[in-house]
Amino acid sequence: MRKFTEKRLLVATHNKGKLAEIAALLAPFGIECVGAAEMNLPEPAETETSFVGNARIKAHAAAKATGLPALSDDSGIEVDCLGGAPGVYTADWAETPTGRDFTMAMTKTWEACDKIAAPEPRSARFRSTLVLAWPDGHDEVFEGKVEGHLVWPMRGALGHGYDPMFQPEGYDITFAEMDPAKKNEISHRADAFRKLVTCFEV
Ligand code: IMP
Repeated sequence: MRKFTEKRLLVATHNKGKLAEIAALLAPFGIECVGAAEMNLPEPAETETSFVGNARIKAHAAAKATGLPALSDDSGIEVDCLGGAPGVYTADWAETPTGRDFTMAMTKTWEACDKIAAPEPRSARFRSTLVLAWPDGHDEVFEGKVEGHLVWPMRGALGHGYDPMFQPEGYDITFAEMDPAKKNEISHRADAFRKLVTCFEV
């Protein structure tokens, strides 16, 4: 695995929350994070059909445009009885003409399972894929996941996205009912980040 020895890292996201979360995680390694919006980078179209494909598009586009190593992430929820849907289209299932509506997306997901009379529990997992790309075209991929199942009706008001309908394995509460610090310990993103930081350790 190629080690990251530079001091500045471009975080290939326009999402301020994601940037702050990643910057805080990497600060102890003496790495300064710069956001894509700060560098006026366009948001590339995510045209691939896998998490790693889309994460690669974002990281390589940002590294090429700036000459800095760039980190991107792509995440979503896979429901087994739906053949892995919504998967890479997780955010798309929430799109409406006036913005994202995750209550609608979760209802759509549960109804799709009902439509095929899928037995319960309906197993699912969140996945997070991180890609670290260098301007010379090299990249390293770090994949994380958390297994669980869907619950209905949705429960809890914490978290974001599909958290209210996802109960991780070994717990009887959903991600949206869980203390965020606990979620951040066991989540798909935490799993991927534990692998990523091995790149920063010299
Ligand atoms: P993206 O990686 O920014 O394209 O986002 C993918 C989508 O996956 C998000 O919009 C959320 O709906 C969903 N998602 C990713 N991680 C989580 C999570 O930890 N909880 C709930 N939903 C998530």
